Amino acid sequence: MIQQNIVGYVRVSDQKLKSSGERRQDIDRQKEKITKFCESMDWNTPTFFCDDGISAFKEDYNSRPEFCKMLREVRANRIHRIIVEDLTRWSRRIEDGLKTMREVSDKCTVTSMAEGEAYLTTPEGWFKCALAFLMAEWSSKSLSYKVQSGMLRRLENKKNICESCGVVHLGRHPKTCECKQCLERKGREKRREKYQTNKITKTGASLG
Ligand SMILES: [Zn+2]
Ligand SMILES: [Zn+2]
Repeated sequence: MIQQNIVGYVRVSDQKLKSSGERRQDIDRQKEKITKFCESMDWNTPTFFCDDGISAFKEDYNSRPEFCKMLREVRANRIHRIIVEDLTRWSRRIEDGLKTMREVSDKCTVTSMAEGEAYLTTPEGWFKCALAFLMAEWSSKSLSYKVQSGMLRRLENKKNICESCGVVHLGRHPKTCECKQCLERKGREKRREKYQTNKITKTGASLG
């Protein structure tokens, strides 16, 4: 077995408002998974860098102390391989993710258990990483948008379920909706239409 210094990078966010016990469990789960993976590859037992309760989307990588510590170790040529469960642990921002990935890829190998080896040296490698970070950023962005705009609260509130359709309408109601407001609106539109056609026939009649 080649003597390699292998580390695992683990991160849990508190975005979903997990209790510290739940976060602990998630950290242990990631560590165990990575350790087993290393065993199966016949690699050395990994040591871990672990950021607890830190979102890779809200904060940039500079505010993840263990991640920065790991980068320093890589710069000092003390790490040969980094394992992550998936690339969203590395970053949930395309700019940060690509920047740090580019920095370490000259010095060591990054292996994602979900996506395979991550590197930017080939077009395919770059595409895979960029896509993973892009998707992660997109899903974080849309989640925080939904939270901010109160969309999730509206979805969860039973009062907002349409009496006619049985679902929550986030935007305009569908044409088939027959809730009170929709029926009223349809009634108004019908009356207006009737009024308009009456007017046209009347003016038409007077013209003729
Ligand atoms: Zn409806
Ligand atoms: Zn409606």
